[in-house]
Amino acid sequence: MSKLLEISQLGAPVLRKKARFVKNINDKSIQDLIDDLIFTVKKADGVGIAAPQVFESKRLFVLASEPNVRYKKAPKIKPTAIINPEILAVSEEIERGWEGCLSIPGIRAVVPRHLSVKVKYTTRDGKKKVDIFDEFLARVFQHEFDHLNGIVYLDRIESTKDIITEKEFDKLMKNNS
Ligand code: ZN
Repeated sequence: MSKLLEISQLGAPVLRKKARFVKNINDKSIQDLIDDLIFTVKKADGVGIAAPQVFESKRLFVLASEPNVRYKKAPKIKPTAIINPEILAVSEEIERGWEGCLSIPGIRAVVPRHLSVKVKYTTRDGKKKVDIFDEFLARVFQHEFDHLNGIVYLDRIESTKDIITEKEFDKLMKNNS
């Protein structure tokens, strides 16, 4: 049975550490962690979650994008574990878009990100994979990848004026749809 994990909140030292490479992908502890991350991110209405967000300083995150109350226009994908990722190339084109973070509740901010990223990672079956992610998924990938290096999205904003409360964000989305 998958477990609901406690989510580390901004200020927890684990969110500021560089996470360690995952060696034993086949270990039950790693496979269980992946299942628990998927369970937890769905329960929290997230679209991605990184291991440091559940107090595990490991280079591993889950992409679990689907439309939910926090991200109404998210594309639906099968939950995917991304282990020991590397970013091989990025598009020159940058897009500014709204982000939030399960470790920083109550606010959203506009963050510039590369529109497209070419990446390499290991799957939960231990296979090496090269992939290209665009737009929303590229944004989620870059956000989660940052968590593995002790970076949070607020470190990437251009101005503190780009931060708004979740309540104002909801109003903004209502008015824009
Ligand atoms: Zn986050």
